[in-house]
Amino acid sequence: SEEKIECDLTIIGGGPGGYVAAIKGAKLGAKVVLIEEGALGGTCLNYGCIPTKALVRSAEVFDSFKEAAEYGLSAKDFRVDMEKVIDRKNAIVSKLVGGVEDLLEKNNIRVISGRGKLINKDTVQAETEDKIIEVNSKDIIIATGSEPSCPPIPGANSKSVVTSKEILDLKELPEKFAIVGGGVIGMEIAFIFASFGVEVFVIEFLDDVLQTLDEDVIEEIKTAAEQKGIKIYTGSEVEEVIDTLNEKSMVRFTKDGRPEYLSVDKILMCTGRRPYLEGLGIEAVGIELNENKRGIKVNEKMQTNIDNIYAIGDVTDIMQLAHVASHQGIVAVENIMGHNAEMDYSAVPSAIFTHPEIATVGLTEKEAQSKGLNIEVGKFPYAANGKALTVGDDRGFIKIIKDQDTEKIVGAHIIGINAADLISSLTIAVKNGLTTKQITETIFAHPTTAEVTMKVFSL
Ligand code: FAD
Repeated sequence: SEEKIECDLTIIGGGPGGYVAAIKGAKLGAKVVLIEEGALGGTCLNYGCIPTKALVRSAEVFDSFKEAAEYGLSAKDFRVDMEKVIDRKNAIVSKLVGGVEDLLEKNNIRVISGRGKLINKDTVQAETEDKIIEVNSKDIIIATGSEPSCPPIPGANSKSVVTSKEILDLKELPEKFAIVGGGVIGMEIAFIFASFGVEVFVIEFLDDVLQTLDEDVIEEIKTAAEQKGIKIYTGSEVEEVIDTLNEKSMVRFTKDGRPEYLSVDKILMCTGRRPYLEGLGIEAVGIELNENKRGIKVNEKMQTNIDNIYAIGDVTDIMQLAHVASHQGIVAVENIMGHNAEMDYSAVPSAIFTHPEIATVGLTEKEAQSKGLNIEVGKFPYAANGKALTVGDDRGFIKIIKDQDTEKIVGAHIIGINAADLISSLTIAVKNGLTTKQITETIFAHPTTAEVTMKVFSL
């Protein structure tokens, strides 16, 4: 059967881009329809940010048992029960997804559970379990996210090969685990499983893991990985996965041109994500892609080449971060509702939940130098911080990059405990062009790890 609906704004995809845009649209007075084929909350809530962080926390608690004696405590007979670890993760996900459902309902947003497809520039067809719904609206936002993208390696369809989505529901720990790709997701998962006692191997094609970071940060995280027993192979290209006896697999790769073999129980393919455009009908409507033909091309208002169609989040291939997707959603909706808004990417924080955490905002040292800025780099270690010592983890540092001509902070890099939270104050600094003097003149609570921020340019 068929149903026809008229509304002001149709959104395809209910991840952190789509659902935030839907709520913003409703708050600004639009009648909004949101089409989601899977679970509300998208990759972020269901298979991304939140579930990984739930596992990170289980890993941290487990680590603290191992170190109990150092804290004057004793812990006996502790072990990992993956089934319960995953139950806990699922409970957190359900709670958050329920919260999103409530918010959408409260804002009178019609949520269609089905697959959306563009028919023409004003119409989206939603295919649900029992009917086809035609949604007509003045404006449309595409927020369909991304999917894992794996190189065509022979044997990649082996039973032991999993994606980041499947690994989050793995009820039995592998003994030996190969992670192909040492990017953000690969390294977060490497630390989680290493904490749980799994022997982890990271195989990275490039010369280094987490290659967008400054070298001193990379060195620090590599040292931490080594201490945790994570073995990293850089400059390594996986050539084949071969199934062997006893449910094991052999990963054949070349390191610096020489052949290497690893026998493992599980292999995680973590070689990046590509915009998800399948069956979306963008060709039919004539929506243009970026130069590399991956994501949907948008301007700074998040508008595609078709005036009334916007695209936000991972599908634009600009920055694969949940908070960027949400912010782009707000910018798109502001423009749709007749306000003027533009995306500014100069102060986007990004966090990596390894152990210790890493967080950055603004320019790296490399970027500032290549822009020809006259920079001064300040760095202060956690080792001299009282709070870090009481917590029992004083690894890492905070590094702040200032433009000497203006005294303004143009970038900040943190590796150490609480890095992901500490980056917020430095994000405010970069976003608002604060000077290092304004930071050092601010009073920070004692004893906190945030005090390291204040000390970078005062001591
Ligand atoms: P998504 O969250 O992917 O949502 C898109 C939604 O659209 C999906 O629910 C999908 O079902 C739906 N959809 C697609 N096509 C259609 C269609 N035709 N019709 C109807 N529905 C459709 N980012 C961070 O900022 N911090 C982190 O810590 C972090 N950790 C991550 C860990 C992992 C393992 C992964 C995989 C990602 C992580 N990310 C993290 C990235 C983050 O998840 C994404 O950047 C974010 O989810 C993008 O949001 P989005 O709204 O663009 O797309």
